[in-house]
Amino acid sequence: MIRSGRVSGSEMKSFDIVVVGAGIVGCAVAREFARTGMHVGIVEGGVPGGGATAAGMGHVVVMDDSPAQLALTQYSRLLWRNEANRLPLAVEYESCGTIWVAADDEEMEEVRAKQDIYARAGVESAVLNAAELAKAEPNLRKELVGGLLVPQDGVIYPPAAAGFFLSEAQRLGAMLYHSRAVKASNGEVKLENGARLLAEHIVLAVGTECNLLPVLPVQRRKGHLAITDRYSGFLRHQLVELGYLKSAHKLISDSVAFNIQPRQTGQLLIGSSRQYGDEDPGVDSAILRQMLDRAVNYMPALARISILRVWTGFRAATPDKLPLIGPATGLSDDASLWLAAGFEGLGITNALGAARLLMDGLLNRVQEIDAAPYLPARMANRVVIAHA
Ligand SMILES: Cc1cc2nc3c(=O)[nH]c(=O)nc-3n(C[C@H](O)[C@H](O)[C@H](O)COP(=O)(O)OP(=O)(O)OC[C@H]3O[C@@H](n4cnc5c(N)ncnc54)[C@H](O)[C@@H]3O)c2cc1C
Repeated sequence: MIRSGRVSGSEMKSFDIVVVGAGIVGCAVAREFARTGMHVGIVEGGVPGGGATAAGMGHVVVMDDSPAQLALTQYSRLLWRNEANRLPLAVEYESCGTIWVAADDEEMEEVRAKQDIYARAGVESAVLNAAELAKAEPNLRKELVGGLLVPQDGVIYPPAAAGFFLSEAQRLGAMLYHSRAVKASNGEVKLENGARLLAEHIVLAVGTECNLLPVLPVQRRKGHLAITDRYSGFLRHQLVELGYLKSAHKLISDSVAFNIQPRQTGQLLIGSSRQYGDEDPGVDSAILRQMLDRAVNYMPALARISILRVWTGFRAATPDKLPLIGPATGLSDDASLWLAAGFEGLGITNALGAARLLMDGLLNRVQEIDAAPYLPARMANRVVIAHA
């Protein structure tokens, strides 16, 4: 039975835990707690899965910017793979693998360094030379020098995954409330109509929205994506230029990097851009042009394809590029508040790992990876980002 709740202004309902935000992270968290038999409330002010989750690319990828990022993405990818056989077809899970594409000898050195890091962590990967790269992806520019194939990375369709986790949580008894939370503190979430949801713990899984906890150290980082018409067989793997790592690290300036994904429909999802300080959700045609030119530079045949739709979304970036998972200690004295926020460009990948870490942490169970690098308390002494 699918459960949606309604409460009138004067009403009060009690739960073990209330999750604010039904993006992919909040839905995964809600399901994880519902599985333990806890009574879960979920509050969503918009469409479930309609925030950054609907705007994202759905690449489930192991990334190695830092040991902590590597640990969480590797753990999360494993959880996706463990669940792959029971995901509904609508989630479009495909273990297509990633190829990190090297444009020159310097980037080929990075390929080898990356492979070393992956090998030490037990992540399968294989170096491709120019001929092997051309064979794997015939539409790439011929002058490229090689790449790193990471065969167990995958892709999903994120809003469908969020919807699946939510429906599972509801099947296990969780109640969804369609309302904005206007206050969340001291074990009480207040809805727009004045109704109150009480719980020992509140999890804020609010994406880029910081109004419930304005000290949340999260900045909005805009991104563009474009989807094409159907071109079956054009692309087999998710391709990412190695220069992506350099551009994704730029904290101030706008950047674009070649990143392309095959969809089960035969469509190609082309990304991506990163911009701070642009709060306009509209498409920035100059950045879009740069992004598409970059894609054509890597795959010349893209110049002849037709694009059906272009959109933008906002990533929730933290100062150290790691998410905030755990009690809000250090940001708030309120012991009832927990966070699952700040996932920047990896929230689709990390949703399952974050949900598991949060649940194990809250129930004092042994955590399968060290949760310390993601604890919000690490932000206590850092400069607080002021939100308008
Ligand atoms: C262009 C782009 C490409 C990306 N590509 C990838 C990728 O390939 N792989 C990857 O892993 N990640 C990717 N990401 C990142 C990923 O999309 C996000 O990290 C992830 O979707 C975050 O999920 P979330 O649940 O935290 O946030 P959201 O999906 O934004 O969900 C938060 C929800 O909280 C609700 N909410 C907020 N405040 C309140 C309130 N007060 N009351 C009630 N409800 C509230 C909102 O309505 C929203 O639905 C990409 C992001 C972008 C923008």
